Amino acid sequence: MPEHDQDAALFDLVIVGAGPAGLTAGIYASRGRLKTVVLERNMAGGQIALTDLVENYPGFPEGVSGFDLSQKMKAQAEEFGAEVREIEGVTALAQDAEGRLAVTTDRGTFRARSVILAPGVEPRRSGVPGEAEFIGRGVSWCATCDGALYRGRTVAVIGGGDSAVEEGMFLTKFADKVYLVHRRDELRAAHIAQERCFDNAKMELVWDSVPRRIAGKDMVEALEVENVKTGEQRSLPVNGVFIYIGQDPNTAWLDGVVDLDEHGYILTDGLQRTSVPGVFACGDATAGPLKQIARAVGDGALAAVQAEKYIDALECALPDADSAVQDAEHAASRTERAAGGSAAPA
Ligand code: NAP
Repeated sequence: MPEHDQDAALFDLVIVGAGPAGLTAGIYASRGRLKTVVLERNMAGGQIALTDLVENYPGFPEGVSGFDLSQKMKAQAEEFGAEVREIEGVTALAQDAEGRLAVTTDRGTFRARSVILAPGVEPRRSGVPGEAEFIGRGVSWCATCDGALYRGRTVAVIGGGDSAVEEGMFLTKFADKVYLVHRRDELRAAHIAQERCFDNAKMELVWDSVPRRIAGKDMVEALEVENVKTGEQRSLPVNGVFIYIGQDPNTAWLDGVVDLDEHGYILTDGLQRTSVPGVFACGDATAGPLKQIARAVGDGALAAVQAEKYIDALECALPDADSAVQDAEHAASRTERAAGGSAAPA
């Protein structure tokens, strides 16, 4: 890792990403009186902020709006003292020879005793001809954002996982017809979602089919698909195409910094530790099954508790003068936090 700016402000904990995992880590860390900042390149909430209704997060038998849930998580982290900085994208994580960490954003540098990586995932592009051309003119990855534009119209959703089925169902609130185009003859989505989908008269399943081209003049007018079993080509007359074919972790900036798996997901052990001492990870960008809010918040809590233990152990092993300075800064920061002071970058 490259050297970093020694003059930057020192935080106990820098959390990268304000989705459910990062915000939960922020709640636990700030309750532990760690001087904590949560950095988020977009708005707090991550993928759930774009989700219409969350039905499988405990405590909400009627379901809860993903946006509302994420705002409550953010407020809770702030209530205990974490600073949540939105529209501040992280570009680098560095560690010097003594193991001190620094997180660089597009606005400044934060020195940190410990770092929690919770950068989340982003929707995958299909690469189908017409996809890039019609972004904002009929091609979308966010039904919650764009669904209302398709009132009384026809749309196609590509994919067969939870996102495709749930967002396809959401689109039936507006669209008269929703084609669900899936490359196999069986959906991957949870069974309860599948049952609702099959029961919805506005949904038409297009099985064993892959998209070949998104066509139109100024706006999307058709999705051309091919049946992979029969070779039959079909042109579906649609005004919009929503793409839900999986997600990729936001970890390109971590390549060569912490160990990643072959798909770019962050490798962690059972205590959320990465390959770099003092750096923990949680949420959808970590390797492993179950990309769910329930798991993200559990892993976020564990990462924060482990970070606190790491920092405490660091303090016990501070023999030299430089470390003593850091220790004094740290003690001051905890006192400031307890007194309700705020944090600011260099
Ligand atoms: P996903 O589960 O990976 O599903 C992606 C779907 O797209 C699959 O059906 C896949 O087909 C299809 N696909 C992949 N590449 C394709 C391509 N190039 N062309 C056409 N189709 C393609 O992704 P997701 O639905 O976004 O979900 C991501 C994670 O979040 C999952 O773990 C999911 O359970 C979770 N999630 C949970 C909820 C919830 O619990 N309410 C909601 C949303 C997401 P195959 O099936 O043939 O592989």
